[in-house]
Amino acid sequence: MNIKENLFTPILKVCASALPFGVLKKLTGQEVIFPTYHLVSNQEVPHVGNLYQIRSEKLFHEDLEFMLKHFNPISIDELLKWRNGQLRLNKPSFFLSFDDGLREVNEVIAPILIKKGIPAAFFINPAFVDNKELMFRNKASLLIDRFKKRKINFKRTIDTTGVNEDQFIQIVKSVKYRERDILDKLALASEFSFSDYLNEKKPYLESEKILQLKLQGFHIGAHSVDHPLYEQITLQEQVVQTSESVDFIISKNFSKLRTFAFPFTDHGVSKTLFNQMYENMRLDCSFGVAGIKHENFKFHFQRIPMEKSLDSARKIIAAEYIYYILKTPLGKNHINRK
Ligand SMILES: [Zn+2]
Repeated sequence: MNIKENLFTPILKVCASALPFGVLKKLTGQEVIFPTYHLVSNQEVPHVGNLYQIRSEKLFHEDLEFMLKHFNPISIDELLKWRNGQLRLNKPSFFLSFDDGLREVNEVIAPILIKKGIPAAFFINPAFVDNKELMFRNKASLLIDRFKKRKINFKRTIDTTGVNEDQFIQIVKSVKYRERDILDKLALASEFSFSDYLNEKKPYLESEKILQLKLQGFHIGAHSVDHPLYEQITLQEQVVQTSESVDFIISKNFSKLRTFAFPFTDHGVSKTLFNQMYENMRLDCSFGVAGIKHENFKFHFQRIPMEKSLDSARKIIAAEYIYYILKTPLGKNHINRK
């Protein structure tokens, strides 16, 4: 991952702009690609702004126009039929998805997709639906934002914690799922209330809105209970996070399909969990974000993260194609899980 980002990225970007996209698309021979996002907004979104790049509506429109020019959009049903061998795709296709169930899904993203006739999947976390709780990463982003803007009690935070601004940002950025209580303590020390923010801004989708999205033809899937990094929790916790979130989707009548997108990444997730997902939990399909990669698990699909930069969709997808082509002779496009 680091090598890819540090060494290859500048080279990839140059190649990605220079080579004709149609040639790259043919060379990789991918029938379906899976671009994935979280958020589209023209506004500042403090609980996200320090986590990844937020795409404006204009940039998102451009992404979609580019994808529609080169690919056919497909729904979850078409994706499953294709994978089952019941559907032939006559053109390279794309399957669009959005993680974390942010309110902008309903307010910004869905209206654009409806207008353009593009199906999509939204992967949500039971702990955050109806704004019951803020995700720890959203808390981190929010604290950094307030701290940078001196909107929290800056002096009190410094006095209480004894750290300077850079140290504070570094500490907050690196807080892990297991240590997430630290964020609540820092907020308390800074006289900042996450629950006031949650009540006032309502950052996530509400159940009623999710049902509306379902009626509009979108797919709703699970994204773990409260968004841990799977590599850092036990197998038993992984099972609970996965099965409870999938059961939640079914029990709330958000979908009849049992689908799951890993929070953060599926990197380091064992074969044992995948076996349980596809046997005991009876999943229909699942998703990671490792770019263009193949899996031993036929119904696990790797997606292309679109928010690492504000580059165009063309540039991002072309870079993934080049990376895929370069790694083909090394046999590194296949994930073998232990
Ligand atoms: Zn997520």
